[in-house]
Amino acid sequence: MVRIQVSEHRFVEIRRRSLCDNCSVRNCTSFDGSRVTECAGFKPLFLVLLKCRECGRVYDPYQSLRSLDYALCPECNHINKGVAMISFVCRE
Ligand SMILES: [Zn+2]
Repeated sequence: MVRIQVSEHRFVEIRRRSLCDNCSVRNCTSFDGSRVTECAGFKPLFLVLLKCRECGRVYDPYQSLRSLDYALCPECNHINKGVAMISFVCRE
């Protein structure tokens, strides 16, 4: 679980285990308990957009569940890690 400050007094908690853990869709039939990191039907409880510290790109932290540094966009995290990203896709 990671806590992201989105405004002066508001924090959003993102569960890192699976995208489905952060989804507001309750009747998703594709969720089978495995680790999902990508889903076309994903609807977060809160819309969060962050600006990358490195390149300035605006990104959705829910889409970078595997990131080590949440102040960086997925691309900049990818560069810093230097390892291939593995995706787990939520099937409909
Ligand atoms: Zn970036």
